[in-house]
Amino acid sequence: MEKRKWKNIFPRRKTDRLAVLFVMTELFVEVYFELFIILPQVYPTPSLAMYLHVCFGFYLLFNTLGNMILAIIVDSSTGAEILPAVLQPEWRYCPTCMQNSPPRAVHCFMCEKCVLKREHHCIFIGKCVGIRNHRYYMMTVFYLAVGSLYANFMNIDYALNLLGGFSLKTGLAMIAPILGWIFGVTESMSFFISFQCGTCILSCLMFFTLLVFHTWLIYRGQVTYEWRHGIKDYDVGWKQNFIQVFGKRWYLVWLFPTISSPLPCNGIKYMKKNDKIENVKDM
Ligand SMILES: [Zn+2]
Ligand SMILES: [Zn+2]
Repeated sequence: MEKRKWKNIFPRRKTDRLAVLFVMTELFVEVYFELFIILPQVYPTPSLAMYLHVCFGFYLLFNTLGNMILAIIVDSSTGAEILPAVLQPEWRYCPTCMQNSPPRAVHCFMCEKCVLKREHHCIFIGKCVGIRNHRYYMMTVFYLAVGSLYANFMNIDYALNLLGGFSLKTGLAMIAPILGWIFGVTESMSFFISFQCGTCILSCLMFFTLLVFHTWLIYRGQVTYEWRHGIKDYDVGWKQNFIQVFGKRWYLVWLFPTISSPLPCNGIKYMKKNDKIENVKDM
């Protein structure tokens, strides 16, 4: 990865920095909660099953944090690219950056940059998801979805036992712990546990929805803007569409964030629907 200035790595806006801080803090609170509150309840004495859960939990944490950090530090802006001075077909002039930007690049007014193949601005990584960090963003969402589902399986028995069995009231206490606390369903002591379990349930729903939606977009060879505007020019078949986002070793990237998987495209020229497959190798 090219060297970047620290100011380019950290989120620019205060709301983005707060959102990143919230996600990171909640991630570590959740690890503490599972390790020191839930796990000793499920496995009161050290056992092989307990150690396997600890190993799997840390594998999930490593992948979540690793992908999230790479999504933050890998820059998808046009900054490092040498762009032509003459406007080319399908290119646009960006008056803010004062440069010609290639197709699929969109200016982000939060990042104050043109972003190559801009997907969207994500406040939880504090920057835009674009051509180079799309893979890491998807893997962060994938591991957050799997991690929160796993945490729900670990929590459910203990939380229901603590709140006195499953009912509308306990459902309310877990999904909206503050309401549960106000209406007296949960004691102050139980509030933290209800809050953590509730966060896991909501996170699971949110991240699986995000994962399904963005996987569907990648399958169709689109970014959100193109989906909204019915642009289907870049759909080159599901497998090539996945390679455009996850790189040539697309089937391995889920294992570790550090696995190298070069992208077939530099963000300047894209393969189009009617292009022949041989042309991709030249890009
Ligand atoms: Zn721009
Ligand atoms: Zn942005």
